[in-house]
Amino acid sequence: MRKKNRNNVRLYIYLIALGVGIVLLSLLIFSKPTPVYEEKEFPVLGTIVRVKVAGDKVSTNVLLNVAERELYRIHNKFSPNVEGSVVKKLNEERSIIFDEETLFLFQASINYSIITGGAFDPTIRPLLELWGFDDVNSKKRVPSQEEINEKLKMVDYRFINIDEDKKEISLLKDGVKVDLGGIAKGYAIDLVIQKIKEIDPNATGFVDAGGDIGIIGPKFGELAWVIGIRDPFSNDSLKPIDTIYLTNGAVVTSGDYERFFIQDGKKYHHILDPEDGYPADNASSVTVIAEKAMIADAFSTALFVLGYDNPALEYFTNFGVQAMLISPTGESTETSGFDYFREKLK
Ligand code: ADP
Ligand code: MG
Repeated sequence: MRKKNRNNVRLYIYLIALGVGIVLLSLLIFSKPTPVYEEKEFPVLGTIVRVKVAGDKVSTNVLLNVAERELYRIHNKFSPNVEGSVVKKLNEERSIIFDEETLFLFQASINYSIITGGAFDPTIRPLLELWGFDDVNSKKRVPSQEEINEKLKMVDYRFINIDEDKKEISLLKDGVKVDLGGIAKGYAIDLVIQKIKEIDPNATGFVDAGGDIGIIGPKFGELAWVIGIRDPFSNDSLKPIDTIYLTNGAVVTSGDYERFFIQDGKKYHHILDPEDGYPADNASSVTVIAEKAMIADAFSTALFVLGYDNPALEYFTNFGVQAMLISPTGESTETSGFDYFREKLK
């Protein structure tokens, strides 16, 4: 009798061990390992671009190399300050033969100019030069009204002509110069994500270009990335004023704290109003969420210029953007769909 019991116990133990073994084995076979994130920072595009990614099929290192290559390629191709760039060539030689990517970026820029009634304007360059915002090394100063008036005559996106038959972009007036700084970062983010996804569709992570963020894929394949929105009134960039959650798409913030100088106690920053030639002074930060970083980038600049009291703010949701603006005195306003992205559990 006793012996029989003992045999039974032994049988149970065997069965349990077998069960546990099967479960462990199937876990090993059917479950994927938790992605391991790696990140790298690249000083490029006038900021520090941080790429955080975990590969699925392709090694993370290869993906970081792809990101690096794309970032520097775009910087060298479109920065107006790089010798041999498309934009520098256009500004100097007054016309260029375009390739498809150049056409895409110029058409997009002109399109955003039209949509925003000229608040976004890629011909802002002569004014940027005047204020010293064209390059980190340029001397920054408040120009005279006469100087501003003179440069304002050269700022109008309609001075850019695209001839699709001749495959030529040209500048129609002497002194007109182009700067794609308002969308180039966003475009670069989108392209890094696209290139990574082309070789590894299930890679996850994000690209952070100085606070302009595009999502490669959700954290561990399922969770939203938590993104803090910088407080424009605080010097502590780690103390966010708001938090949003994204599993895809992009969020871009334009702020008056990004690049500025102070003269006679007044702050002058790098987002200029093409209407009067001065730094736009009716917002202190604008955050835009969109499907693509390029769209969010263009609208963050444009909505900053249009300012806090812009009665047409909600209209821009027609272009797939949601926005939150903070006024110079700290009030905030937003489009109807912005709050959705504060939801943590989706
Ligand atoms: P940041 O991330 O540096 O805040 P933004 O996306 O706000 O960049 O764009 C600012 C940049 O856009 C400037 O450095 C300049 O190159 C360009 N820019 C400034 N004002 C305008 C404007 N009204 N329209 C288009 N581009 C602009
Ligand atoms: Mg922008």
